[in-house]
Amino acid sequence: MIFRQLFDAESSTYTYLLASRAGGEALIIDPVRAQLPHYLMLIEQLGVRLVTAIDTHIHADHVTSLGDLRDHFGCTTMMGELSKAECVSLRVRDDELIDIDGLQLRALYTPGHTIESCSFVLEPRSPKAVFTGDVLLIRSTGRTDFQNGDAAMSWDSIVNRLFALPEDALVYPAHDYKGWTVSSIGEEKQFNPRLVNKTRAQYVEIMTSLRLPNPKLMDVAIPANLACGNVTPSLASGGSLTGPVPDQ
Ligand code: FE
Repeated sequence: MIFRQLFDAESSTYTYLLASRAGGEALIIDPVRAQLPHYLMLIEQLGVRLVTAIDTHIHADHVTSLGDLRDHFGCTTMMGELSKAECVSLRVRDDELIDIDGLQLRALYTPGHTIESCSFVLEPRSPKAVFTGDVLLIRSTGRTDFQNGDAAMSWDSIVNRLFALPEDALVYPAHDYKGWTVSSIGEEKQFNPRLVNKTRAQYVEIMTSLRLPNPKLMDVAIPANLACGNVTPSLASGGSLTGPVPDQ
């Protein structure tokens, strides 16, 4: 299997490129528009054919490259079924199986960070890893204070759904701000400070008292991402499209 974890330093976003074999079909999860040249180069060098580009949710801190990848490769653009992005060509329901050339992912509806957030379980018959978007981060969790985020839903998604996966399933989030690259379900159950020895009510209290500033270019990123990364010229002239404000 080909597995590449890619990083956008400006937004601290992780992007994942996966394929079952060299020369086969590939998918990418949470691609960042600013990193498009890097993806195009890597896809060509690895000799894979990109057929699917997935966003785990509508990102508020960077612009997606779903639209650019679709235009370049003619690939499917995929999000969860509650996504309001009209440009998305395929919406996956909870529990839906995605098979890309033998590489299997199962969509797991995990709202909380945002209402449409989905996680994706790799090799679901014997889960090896889960791509959690921003609902579960390494030793942290995604903020729940905009885009219909909901702290109680976040708790339910993490504790009832993600924590039902095997303890040795690896956790690959969409962000990390400290340089950590991977965790596991068992580690997060044991060490995530927002969850360990907490009740659902205490977690809601923690999340609602974070009072984080909005991502700097949220007003640009969200409308752009509802159009798969199509940035209108007037907005794009505003400078950098990513900001340093954490998504946790
Ligand atoms: Fe996010």
